Order: sequence, then C-alpha cells, then structure tokens
Amino acid sequence: MKEIILIKDGEIALKGLNRSTFEDKMIKNIRWRLSDLGEFEFVRSQSTVNIFPVGDADIAGAAERMKYVFGIAGFSRAAVAEKNIEDIQRVAAEYLEDELYGVKTFKVEAKRSDKKFPLTSPEISREVGGYLLSKFHHLTVDVHNPETVITVEVREKYVFIRGNQIKGAGGLPVGSAGKAALMVSGGIDSPVAGWMMAKRGVQLNAIHFASPPYTSVNAEMKVHKLLKAVAKYSGRIRLTVVGFTEIQEAIKDNCPEELFTLIMRRMMMRIACRIAERDGCGALITGESLGQVASQTMQALACTNMVADLPVFRPLIGMDKNEIINISRKIGTFETSILPYEDCCTVFTPKHPRTRPTPDLIEQAEALVEWNEMIEKAIDGVKNITIS
Ligand code: ATP
Ligand code: MG
Repeated sequence: MKEIILIKDGEIALKGLNRSTFEDKMIKNIRWRLSDLGEFEFVRSQSTVNIFPVGDADIAGAAERMKYVFGIAGFSRAAVAEKNIEDIQRVAAEYLEDELYGVKTFKVEAKRSDKKFPLTSPEISREVGGYLLSKFHHLTVDVHNPETVITVEVREKYVFIRGNQIKGAGGLPVGSAGKAALMVSGGIDSPVAGWMMAKRGVQLNAIHFASPPYTSVNAEMKVHKLLKAVAKYSGRIRLTVVGFTEIQEAIKDNCPEELFTLIMRRMMMRIACRIAERDGCGALITGESLGQVASQTMQALACTNMVADLPVFRPLIGMDKNEIINISRKIGTFETSILPYEDCCTVFTPKHPRTRPTPDLIEQAEALVEWNEMIEKAIDGVKNITIS
C-alpha cells in the first residue's frame, strides 16, 4: 500500500506574505532530517506539506522523526487510494485496521478539493462509515466525541486516507528566527532554555566554560550528551568550549568571596558575547530563572546583564523548577543533567553569596585584577566541536 506523510503547519500558517519563507525553511530542515532515510518528494498545498517517499524510502522512520521538527503542529501517515469509492473503502479498512481495533467509536470526515468527484463529501463519509461498520462489528459512529476521526481527502490525482493526527513539536522552523549562543552548563536548566529558543525558530550555537582540573573530562562529555539530545530537535549545534581555570583562580585569589559567583558570571558573559558576535549570533541564551539562586535575584541579573552587549534571552525566567524539570524529562535531558559531575560554578561556591549586589560594589571588586589579557587568552584558546 502506498503511504505518504501529511504535515500540518503550526504558527507558520499565520505568517501571511512571509509564509512561504517559513515553509521553505521547514521543508529544508525536514529534508536534512530525512537525508539518510532515502529519497522523498515534497508537495505543498494550502496549510499542509505532503511528503511522498520515492522507491523504498523509509516512511516509518521518517514519520518518527517528524515529532522532533519545529514548525510542525501535527502530522499523519496517510494511505493513498484510487479515485473510486470501492478503492477508498477497501484501503480505509485495511490501512486503519490496527487503529480501529483499538477504539470503540469513530467518525468519517470527507473533504473534496476535486469537485468533479461523483460523490459529495457527506456521501463519501456515509459510504466509508457504512462499509467500516459492516467490517468491524465492535464499532459505533459517534459524530460528537469519536475516539478516532478518519479523514478522507479527495485531491486532484489521489485520495488520502488517514486516522488520528499525531501531535508535532510546534513552534517555528529552526533558523527562521536567527542564531543565538546558548550558555550551557551541565545542569538541568540550560539545555531546556536552548530547546525553548530553538522551538521559537532560533538556530543554536553553544558555549561551555570548563575549568580543568577542577572540572573533569566527564563534565564536558556530559555537556556533549545534553547538546546531542537538544540537537535532535534543533539540528546541528556548534559548541565552543572555553578554558576558564585561570580566570576562576584569579577571582578566587583576589575578589571578595561573597561576589565570586557574580564576578564569574560577568566574566562568562563578556567572553560569551565576544564569541557569539564573532560567530554571527544575535543574542545569548541562559537558563536563569528569577530567584532560583543568589546569582539570579533581580539585582544580580542586572549586574550580569550590564556587561553583555548582546540581548540575553532567559526563557526560563518565570518558570518554577518543577516546570523546568518536566520539560527536561520530555526532551530527554533530565537523566543526564542529574549525573554528579562538578560544574565550574560549583567549584568555588561562596558560603554566603550576596543576594543584593550593586554595580559599584562589583566594579570595585573587579578593578582589583587586570582581566583583559586573561580574557584574550581564553578566547584564543577555545576548542570547537560540532554536535549532531
Ligand atoms: P543550569 O541548570 O543550567 O546549570 P543553574 O540553575 O545551575 O543552571 P547557574 O549555575 O547559576 O544556574 O547558571 C546560570 C546560567 O549560567 C546557566 O543556566 C547557564 O546558562 C550559564 N552557565 C552556568 N555555568 C556555565 C558554564 N560552565 N558554561 C556556560 N554557561 C554556564
Ligand atoms: Mg549550573
């Protein structure tokens, strides 16, 4: 039986004149995702994109991957029938057999874009519904609240028959909203923050600060693994690893303990902005959430923001930890995030961090050290890795 995938656009459908730009991006992203599964043809019509496998392309594998492509509101696998009612009935019964054995109620919705087809939409629904009732005796029709909706679409060349739609990842196609650099630690929050911005169409780069020997190789491997999970949705991520040991030691040796974390965050921000700009990113992304820790109070965030000369996106700012954890479970990063490797933030954590820092106080503390050379050295020494 010939099968295709029907993709339903999400928000893209609301983009008016820009719509085809968004759709092009989505199709390009889907093509890239399917490149190892064989050849597929893409046909657009109204607010759907139809994917036709060529030859023995892996349609089941392709459908599975559709769940991870941003821009897709929903999708379904559909069988292709000839344009006569007998074939439509036969294909519906065969193709939907498994799905229909799993439910008790159904209804048929017919749509006809080819008005020359001899039956009207209500007639098609009635003919197909009646046929299915005669084949599956456990079924009844429920037009108000059916467990399965069978859709029969009569198009120009073929008829498509499908069962319930599968929910897509939603959002906008990655790349349609520009590129930003995710500041990624090994924790729970930052991978979720990256996923959320990718969902809004942002292509991700990532920047990770490592402080060997205080942080181990395992800590960096953990970041690779987290980004790999995010990349399943966002597509390939270019990761830059920055050696941060010298700067962290200088902070520890010269600055007041209560400001360690904040000064460290400001140094990270300065370096991340430089790398992000060099790589053509229009913003930074962090996993900060208001009030979660001392360095994320309103005053602390203001002090961190001050040194950033790019916009800083903080998609988790108003979320509870539980809400963040729920997303991290859903996207498959949670189990990795809770592995116990030291992050550079936890290495020199002050016992009593200041929760209401002022810019003056921090600037005075930072003036105790000559940072520029260390910053240049850190930027010169970065390592780049592509994660996909
Ligand atoms: P996460 O769960 O993302 O580690 P967190 O709650 O532990 O966040 P912090 O450690 O204060 O919070 O870090 C706040 C944000 O700073 C992180 O979400 C991340 O965006 C960034 N960040 C922290 N550590 C690093 C690091 N080693 N490299 C790059 N960015 C970092
Ligand atoms: Mg952290």
